[in-house]
Amino acid sequence: MMTREEYFESLRKLNLKVYMFGELVENPVDNPIIRPSLNSIGMTYELANQPEYEDLMTATSSLNGQKVNRFTHLHQSTEDLVKKVKMLRLLGQKTGSCFQRCVGMDANNAVFSTTYEIDEAYGTNYHENFKKFLNDVQLKDLVVDGAMTDPKGDRSLSPSKQADPDSYLRVVERRPDGVVVRGAKAHQTGIVNSHEVLVMPTIAMKPDDKDYAISFAVPTDSEGIFMIYGRQSCDTRKTEEGADIDLGNKEFGGHEALVIFDNVFVPNERIFMNGETEFAGMLVERFSGYHRQSYGGCKVGVGDVLIGATALAADYNGAAKASHVKDKLIEMTHLNETLFSCGVACSCEGCKTKSGNYIIDLLLANVCKQNITRFPYEIVRLAEDIAGGLMVTLPSEKDFNTAELKPYIEKYLVGVEGVSVEDRMRIMRLIENISLGTAAVGYRTESMHGAGSPQAQRIMISRQSNLEQKKELAKNIANIKKD
Ligand code: SF4
Ligand code: FE
Repeated sequence: MMTREEYFESLRKLNLKVYMFGELVENPVDNPIIRPSLNSIGMTYELANQPEYEDLMTATSSLNGQKVNRFTHLHQSTEDLVKKVKMLRLLGQKTGSCFQRCVGMDANNAVFSTTYEIDEAYGTNYHENFKKFLNDVQLKDLVVDGAMTDPKGDRSLSPSKQADPDSYLRVVERRPDGVVVRGAKAHQTGIVNSHEVLVMPTIAMKPDDKDYAISFAVPTDSEGIFMIYGRQSCDTRKTEEGADIDLGNKEFGGHEALVIFDNVFVPNERIFMNGETEFAGMLVERFSGYHRQSYGGCKVGVGDVLIGATALAADYNGAAKASHVKDKLIEMTHLNETLFSCGVACSCEGCKTKSGNYIIDLLLANVCKQNITRFPYEIVRLAEDIAGGLMVTLPSEKDFNTAELKPYIEKYLVGVEGVSVEDRMRIMRLIENISLGTAAVGYRTESMHGAGSPQAQRIMISRQSNLEQKKELAKNIANIKKD
C-alpha cells in the first residue's frame, strides 16, 4: 500500500489536462483550490497505514491474497459491507468533506459482478479483463474514479435519438485492437486526484443504443481526456493570502469536474462491456445501489462534524442550556443516526452475487439514499437555526486582523467568557463551509443528486417493493377468498 506522500508523488507523475477559470492548470497537486480535495483522499492512505484503523481501512484481497486498501477491495461478506459504511463514516469525521475515493470502490464492485454475468451469457472475456485491471489497481494502491453520469441532452430521448450523438458517451470507431470513444461524464467526483477512470453507461438501454453500452478503464492522463474543474461557492477564498479562519475547513475539501473524452482509444484488454445493451441496466442498478449505501456512511460522518460544530456554537454563545437547543441537537442526532442505520441495514441484508463478491440489499440502499435527499437538509436547517445569523454576516479574517478593527470585533462579537472571538469565528465558518461553502457540494446538493436524484430511488423502491405480496398478506388477514 502507498503512504500519503507516495500517493501525492504518484499524482505528480500524471500528465493531466485540467482547466480552471479558463486556463490550463500547470500543477494540480499544489494548486490551492484543488489541494484540499487531494488532502481528503490522502486521508484514505494515511488511516490505512495506522494500526488503529487497520481493520476498517484494509482487507485481504480475494484476487491476490495481499493486504490492500479497502477502497480497492471486492466485498467478500456482509461484514465487509458493514465495515465499508463504518470506514466512510470515519473518513467523513476526519475530513468534514467528500473524500472521493468511494466512487471507484463502488464501480469496481459493480463491474466485477456484471462482467461475470455478461461473460456467462455471451462467452466474452470481460471478467478476466476486469480482474487483471483490478489486480493492478490493488497492488499499486491506485485511485479509480467511477464515471457514470452522461450529460444526457434532451431527457425525453434515448442515447441514439439525441440531436448530438455525443450527449451520451459512445464508441465512434471500432478497430481490431480496441475502440475509440467520444463523449463526456459530468459531476466527476475526484477525477483530478485519480489515476484511472472506470467508465460505465448511465441508463438502461435498448438494442438501438449498442454504441452507448460501453464500459472500460483508462488512465486519467490518456490522450484525448481533459477536465473542466467545477467551481464551488466561496472557492476563491482559498487563494486569498494567509487564508485560514475564513475557510472554515482549511485542510480538506472535495471536487467535481466535467470530463471530456475527445476520441480516446481504449485497448481491447481494458473493455468490460461493448454493446451488450441488456446489461447496462444491471450495471447502473448495482453501481448506484453501492453508492447509495456509501452515503449512509460518508454523509453521516460529515453530519457528526456539523452536529459537533453546532453544539459548540451554542456553547460559545451561552445558549447550550436552552431546552429547545438541546432538543434540536437531539433531533439532528436522531436524523443522522437514522441515515447510519440505513447504511448498516442495507449492508447486513446484502447477499453474494454470482461472481462471488457481495452486494447490498437494493431496496434498503435506495431507502437509505432517499432519506439522504432529505435529512441533511433538515440537519443543516437546524444547524443554521442554532448558529444564528453570524455564520453569514461575520466580518472577514482580514478585518479581524486589522489593528484598528480588531478591538471592536473582539468587543462586539464576544460570547461567553473564556471563549475567544477567533474560536467563535472558526466554528461559524465551519458551519458555513458545510452548509453553503465549498463542502456544501458534498454535503447538501450531493445529498440530493449524488448517486442519483430522488426520483431514481423512488423508481427502484417501487420496483423492489413487492406490492403484490403485500396485497396477499392483506387478503389473508381480511379473509378475502382467492378466485
Ligand atoms: Fe465518497 Fe461520499 Fe464523496 Fe461519494 S459523496 S465519493 S460516497 S465521500
Ligand atoms: Fe457522490
